[in-house]
Amino acid sequence: MELKITKTTNPKTKPEGALGFGKYFTDHMFVMQYDNGQWHDARIEPWRNFELAPSASILHYAQGVFEGCKAFKNEKGEVRFFRLRDNLKRMNNSADRICMPEFDMDFVYNAIRELVLIDEDWMPTAENCALYIRPSMIATEPALGVHASVSYIFFVILSPVGSYYGKTEPVNLFVEENYVRAAVGGTGGHKVIGNYAASLKAGEKAKANGYDQAMWLDAKEHRFVEEVGAMNIFFVMDGVVYTPELRGSILPGITRNSIITLLKDRGYTVNETQVDIYDVRDAAKEGRLTEVFGSGTAAVVSPVGKFCFQGVDYTVGNGKMGPIAKEMYDEVCGIQRGRKADSYGWVDIIKK
Ligand SMILES: *Cc1c(COP(=O)(O)O)cnc(C)c1O
Repeated sequence: MELKITKTTNPKTKPEGALGFGKYFTDHMFVMQYDNGQWHDARIEPWRNFELAPSASILHYAQGVFEGCKAFKNEKGEVRFFRLRDNLKRMNNSADRICMPEFDMDFVYNAIRELVLIDEDWMPTAENCALYIRPSMIATEPALGVHASVSYIFFVILSPVGSYYGKTEPVNLFVEENYVRAAVGGTGGHKVIGNYAASLKAGEKAKANGYDQAMWLDAKEHRFVEEVGAMNIFFVMDGVVYTPELRGSILPGITRNSIITLLKDRGYTVNETQVDIYDVRDAAKEGRLTEVFGSGTAAVVSPVGKFCFQGVDYTVGNGKMGPIAKEMYDEVCGIQRGRKADSYGWVDIIKK
């Protein structure tokens, strides 16, 4: 398939000051369409609105998937992708889970490469800033029957971003015992659009109670920790690192995988297992819970200062970012920006 490129004649003004997360978008986007069993009309074109039938299935039944990854521009002017192929592979897995067509990873990888280079002027270079890449696929068939759509749009938009929470202090979590994010056998292990609307209520409840995010428990026993907000989660108890094992309801985070790899190589014991909230609570009570942190592309590592479980607040360690969270944050960011050696082949330098 050919990639047609049309550049804007009317570039937008670039943002000044704090970027926040996902508020600004670059001048161009990548789009391709799927009809009659084939992807077609792949193009990079100026940012514009889509036209969708009010009956388009994405609007009714949320048949859609997305990804989130980052490109970096460092002081040397290098443009660097971090594990983009892993994101694209996961996106094809997500698509398969909700009966959407597969796309050619190499083709899309190259299209994203072109797109990022075209909008390179939008890339922030400051520490903690990046170009966030949002690939997405939506069902467009204008029909109300509940079935897999016959037509789709695949698109990629780019957003220059700063820090996710707009603050560096630890976040506070509310352990959610009623609402659940995902059940084993459901779609929680995939980046499927419908998962996120389903998670909003618990997030709002946490905020209404004065916390930043919900800590999710498993759907069956409401006892085993799953994730925090839209991040994976790590606990350090008695010097051992624990993270919930992937059983289908937890999103297999690429940051999670990077951190597990780095920790093991640095001699830490990492246990991927069921993490019982009652054990976590007891460890916190007894001063054995030294760190808790979330992991995800947006924030990289997000330390947890305290959590509320059954109406009681528990402080984690001394309430500040712990040494392991700090080490992982520095390692991942260092590899992403080229300050640290990339011994795992995670980075592609697309422009030197
Ligand atoms: C995207 C996401 C994560 C983090 O995955 P990364 O690949 O590390 O960005 C974790 N949990 C949920 C629910 C997510 O959507």
